[in-house]
Amino acid sequence: MTSNSYLIVGAGVFGVSTAYTLIRKYPNASITIVDRDAYDADSRVAASWDWNKVIRADYDDLIYCKLALEAQDIFESDPLYQPFFHKTGIYWMCRTDYATQVVENYKKLGRKAELEAMSVKEARRLYGGLFEDADYTDVRDVLVNKTSGWANAGDALRAVTKKCIELGVKYVVAETESLTFDRSGRCTGVKTKKGETLSASKVVLCTGAFTAKLLEQAAKASNKPDISAGGRIIAGGITTGMTKLDEESYKRFEHMPVAVQSYNATTGPFVGSLPPTADRELKWWGQKIFKNTQDILGKRISAPPPEPDYAQWKVANPLKQDIDYANSIFYGKNGAHWKMEKHRICWDAFTSSSDFIISPHAGAQGLYVATCGSFHGYKFFPVLGKYVVQMLEGELESELKEKWAWDRERPDEKLNPEFPRWEMKEILGAQAKL
Ligand SMILES: Cc1cc2nc3c(=O)[nH]c(=O)nc-3n(C[C@H](O)[C@H](O)[C@H](O)COP(=O)(O)OP(=O)(O)OC[C@H]3O[C@@H](n4cnc5c(N)ncnc54)[C@H](O)[C@@H]3O)c2cc1C
Repeated sequence: MTSNSYLIVGAGVFGVSTAYTLIRKYPNASITIVDRDAYDADSRVAASWDWNKVIRADYDDLIYCKLALEAQDIFESDPLYQPFFHKTGIYWMCRTDYATQVVENYKKLGRKAELEAMSVKEARRLYGGLFEDADYTDVRDVLVNKTSGWANAGDALRAVTKKCIELGVKYVVAETESLTFDRSGRCTGVKTKKGETLSASKVVLCTGAFTAKLLEQAAKASNKPDISAGGRIIAGGITTGMTKLDEESYKRFEHMPVAVQSYNATTGPFVGSLPPTADRELKWWGQKIFKNTQDILGKRISAPPPEPDYAQWKVANPLKQDIDYANSIFYGKNGAHWKMEKHRICWDAFTSSSDFIISPHAGAQGLYVATCGSFHGYKFFPVLGKYVVQMLEGELESELKEKWAWDRERPDEKLNPEFPRWEMKEILGAQAKL
């Protein structure tokens, strides 16, 4: 093991961005990414591997607003990211004072952009009336930000990973089963399912929805209970669905903005619809965010289904109906004839505040955690690595260090509209009654 060696477990946006930052800063360092899936596989379990993701700085939280602007500037200007970014704008139906807060945050940051909070009456006429038939019940105003958009998520992830490999990062395809420690308790690497050991001086877990399960496996195997996630990290799943637009609908929706319906902690999470891809596929994510709590080595922990592909393509009817519902609240009669063609269950790691964890793990020297995108992490792809490396080197500014700490006070999850509030089996149980 060289003194400047890094093992990054997980090749989603957190892991790849970290590898890309490290290899440019330390071209001679030994940097290895290990992931259960090849970076160019036809199907991957990563939340970051998707047809598209929303890229926006429309945050009521000032810190994420600032970071998202920093990331978006790179999406717009860096030749590595730029081909994947589409500045379509966003149309956000708000049921709280979210729109006003976003506008305020842009002002506080001195950022000039074409954005405003509009009345429903005024907004409804925009974009050729695409959203005239949306559900506006309890909507206070509509945030229209012409500078937001979306990215071809999986394509961008593949391109940046390829670049890392060209620059000297090693990419190993293997499932990590547990962690290895030396006599002093320092983490020295990982053990794969096939029994192979990979070692490095710094081990960074960027394992998304699988993180709590992996830490539990490692805690048990090493007899170190402090390695467990201990309720900090919850795996949450959500359904996405797509329709392939017919010629007439495509002409009408081709230049649509990203659309969002947001609610509150009592009524539920925000729901979104993304503009058609090059294959003319328009996408939604649903309103039901669920845990999959199961017995893992004697503890009740939420984790993706045990199949190697997280059973992500096995989407039962009650989940498909969530997408039909999403269609109806955005497009009403305009989308009523669309046939849903593709469904996927996508898993991410959540914290109760929706903050990431980018922190040393308190249970062992040499072990670090950088994940918990909490359903909003993708857009930060171009800057995540910068902050993870600052964390690795003890240089993260105090505000971020506290926000992303392993150990911090965590708010009640009930205050968070996006936190998984269902159990998957509860929703699937409804299938029997249909
Ligand atoms: C449906 C959906 C829509 C979303 N929409 C948006 C959006 O519009 N905009 C936005 O900004 N964010 C969005 N997000 C959130 C965003 O996708 C995630 O927060 C982010 O991609 C998480 O990145 P990650 O690197 O932590 O995890 P992942 O991308 O999940 O990557 C984790 C990687 O770890 C690997 N791994 C896990 N366990 C092991 C193991 N034991 N051994 C080896 N490899 C392992 C996996 O194979 C995977 O490649 C969305 C999420 C979902 C689910």
